Amino acid sequence: MHAAALAALGRYFGYESFRPGQSGVVDALLRGHDVLAVMPTGAGKSLCYQIPAALLPGVAIVISPLISLMQDQVDALNDVGLPAAFVNGMQTPDEQSMTLAQASAGQVKLLYVAPERLETGRFRDFAARTPIALVAVDEAHCVSQWGQDFRSSYLAIGDFIRSLPRRPVVGAFTATATEKVRRDIVGLLGLDAPRVTVTGFDRPNLYFDVIAMERKRKAAWIADYVAAHPGDSGIVYCATRKETEALADTLNRAVPERRAAAGATAGGAGSAGGPVAVAYHGGMSPEARGRAQRDFVTDRVPVVVATNAFGMGIDKSNVRYVIHHNMPESIEAYYQEAGRAGRDGEPSRCALLWNESDIVTRRRLLDSDNDNERMTPEEQEIARHNRRRLLDGMIGYCRTTECLHRYMTRYFGQEDGSVSGAGTGAATAGAPGKCGACANCERTFTTVDVTDIARNISRCVHDVMFEHDEQGHETTPTPVRRGLGSGKIVRILRGSQAQDLAWLAPERMPSFGTLKDVPEARVRDVLSQMTTDGYLTVGDGRLPLVGFGPRAAETVAPDFRYEIKRVDRRSDRTADGG
Ligand code: ADP
Repeated sequence: MHAAALAALGRYFGYESFRPGQSGVVDALLRGHDVLAVMPTGAGKSLCYQIPAALLPGVAIVISPLISLMQDQVDALNDVGLPAAFVNGMQTPDEQSMTLAQASAGQVKLLYVAPERLETGRFRDFAARTPIALVAVDEAHCVSQWGQDFRSSYLAIGDFIRSLPRRPVVGAFTATATEKVRRDIVGLLGLDAPRVTVTGFDRPNLYFDVIAMERKRKAAWIADYVAAHPGDSGIVYCATRKETEALADTLNRAVPERRAAAGATAGGAGSAGGPVAVAYHGGMSPEARGRAQRDFVTDRVPVVVATNAFGMGIDKSNVRYVIHHNMPESIEAYYQEAGRAGRDGEPSRCALLWNESDIVTRRRLLDSDNDNERMTPEEQEIARHNRRRLLDGMIGYCRTTECLHRYMTRYFGQEDGSVSGAGTGAATAGAPGKCGACANCERTFTTVDVTDIARNISRCVHDVMFEHDEQGHETTPTPVRRGLGSGKIVRILRGSQAQDLAWLAPERMPSFGTLKDVPEARVRDVLSQMTTDGYLTVGDGRLPLVGFGPRAAETVAPDFRYEIKRVDRRSDRTADGG
């Protein structure tokens, strides 16, 4: 590690060491290598470009989509002695010119701009005559149509970098995981052989739990949980504004009753007659929201029941639990919300309550959602397809039987396997499925053995790629097809005689009709879980074809076993985690 970087870390920010992942990024940028850094919110991305900006000769341009956050960042940097400034459209032309002149004169180390600025003549002139050492692109996923918040203005960044007389080193930063988005970032920003790092996604002090539960039992479960944890701060996320208010009311009524019944006299906020829970959502007045937030942050009210509007910019380190009343739309969203627990590093719990109807609701929302009128039909289709994939990742999390920590880090592409739990930790190294910090590793669920179904699905995916003769033997040595959609695979396995399959001669395939006695929904569940677990893949094209994933070969091994979670109508588990 650069000694100068470590010294700057202490001098400007007062920290003794870099967090995992930070030093590699800082080092690469200082050595002149482009970087794509994938790190979750709160992991410390800013330092990764602020330290190189402090050390490299010349100006660093920081491109960020949020004008509202620039002022804070710039103030904080100036406070610690790093000269920083921003230019944006809210300033007068004179103010802008003044700031740019200072930057040109070397009086500013970090210059924050929104991407729209890059296209203006004034800024281009400035850039042409100023030595620019580094361009840092924050929220870099905004460049990709495959990302959730695509901004067309981000497309100008690549051009801007290419237009500079001397090419600066470029760092791109994002918390978005998907492969396509990463590829777009590299391509559209024109990163040059970038070092790609993915770090910081595992949160070992969080205990993850996924509980399938009927809708009408959820409120009682949450009330039990809150009653059993007096004095602990918690966030409960709901899908709608109405739900937040109804649930907050329920908690304020039911939690004191439960504690009284249990004879609890234990202290803690909310037990001395004050409210237990407060609602928070975007439909409330700014005053009411501010009050709710203050009451929660200052521990006057232990629980906030909120929509996903709650959380941005809220700094509360001792949140002991985050409960989701519904399944979120993506792992990214879940990770961000659940990740608000345990910022102080103390053991904390993240429980996700879900049921099959959450999936139906989410799918319906997704298909009816025409989110942006300015998008072309094709762009809308891409956006919808993208959201469908994100949702599949979330559903996979609910259904998987593997370690939930591992699922999460694998989802985010952090493949170093350094998953560790807050529990005993004894078994982390050699024994997958024993992290000590998730319900799956403690096997708090029951499973159904679906080995036979999985084998047949895998067989069928193979079958559709080849032509077969009357006896069912493959007549071509190499595959003639790349795959089929999952619906058709399921129908072949169930022995469908439908006309639209006739061209495939499915009855010649060895797997034809092998699952005719298995309910269609079960076959679909297994297929979808096999995709999640890496046995199969679903392509990105307009027709999502099912193909083989990296673990496909395991399905033909003699000792292959495959289980999925049994999703009970009733859940026997109590809120104490038993
Ligand atoms: P991100 O941009 O990834 O969301 P930030 O850059 O805002 O995250 O950093 C989150 C918090 O972590 C900040 O309060 C920051 O000061 C702190 N932080 C960052 N790096 C370190 C470090 N090496 N040691 C201690 N704290 C750090």
